Amino acid sequence: MGFCRGLLRMSFLGFVWFLGFVLILDSGGVQGWSKEGHIMTCQIAQELLEPEAAHAVKMLLPENVNGDLSALCVWPDQIRHWYKYRWTSSLHFIDTPDEACNFDYDRDCHDPHGVKDMCVAGAIQNFTSQLSHYREGTSDRRYNMTEALLFLSHFMGDIHQPLHVGFTSDEGGNTIQLRWFRHKSNLHHVWDREIILTAATDYYGKDMDLLEQDIEGNFTDGIWHDDVASWKECGNIFTCVNKWAAESITIACKWGYKGVESGMTLNDDYFNSRLPIVMKRIAQGGVRLAMVLNRVFGASDEDMVSAT
Ligand SMILES: [Zn+2]
Repeated sequence: MGFCRGLLRMSFLGFVWFLGFVLILDSGGVQGWSKEGHIMTCQIAQELLEPEAAHAVKMLLPENVNGDLSALCVWPDQIRHWYKYRWTSSLHFIDTPDEACNFDYDRDCHDPHGVKDMCVAGAIQNFTSQLSHYREGTSDRRYNMTEALLFLSHFMGDIHQPLHVGFTSDEGGNTIQLRWFRHKSNLHHVWDREIILTAATDYYGKDMDLLEQDIEGNFTDGIWHDDVASWKECGNIFTCVNKWAAESITIACKWGYKGVESGMTLNDDYFNSRLPIVMKRIAQGGVRLAMVLNRVFGASDEDMVSAT
């Protein structure tokens, strides 16, 4: 029995490593923050982990990634269409009623068949709840806990991408075809990736580390420094996912969809006014992922799952 479990775990770790390798080769076509957005979210979070959470994360990650959570933060995008993981594909986003510009968990958090909780807000609750049992468990739990960590880390990024909480009829901007400067794109992809890549090219010599350092500088001692405490406010995970999703749809309405129509060209005006928002959402995703991991793995008995 022990041997079988060991074997299962070995094959899972090899499997995760393989996927990690694949995602390095895969440069696009994913949904959610681009891989760059997810990697930054997870790197920001990992730097903010307290010792206990940092240790737990290292224990859960496959050895091949050398303790680097960000190496597997895109994994849920890579596997979402695989047969085994098809159930996860609705967990990356929330469709809200067109033009409503608000989020109502009971109304909006379901998959296309109406199954409740199958949206990014429900997923964050579910995987936070799973991880909250880590400290009670033994290594036998590792199989599920590793997946839970990767899913949670990814979905904390997705819920902060404003167009991941978008309108139903345009699939969060995916069907709004337009041009980003000179090439074809769509509104969803502009928010997933185009803004980040244009910023990297225009301002950071294509060096994502420099872009990330700028984001971090803004909250360590820059313009968002005084806001970080309020970003981390979270009584229990249910109220928090509701707040984060509501923030995203509010931004989607005010900054994402506003003034945008199919067929138009978005360029400097749109880019310059939206870049600070994208950077702030990546920062918030990272800070809040660290907050959740510090609480579920930390020594304090603050229970963010069952507390109301
Ligand atoms: Zn995603």
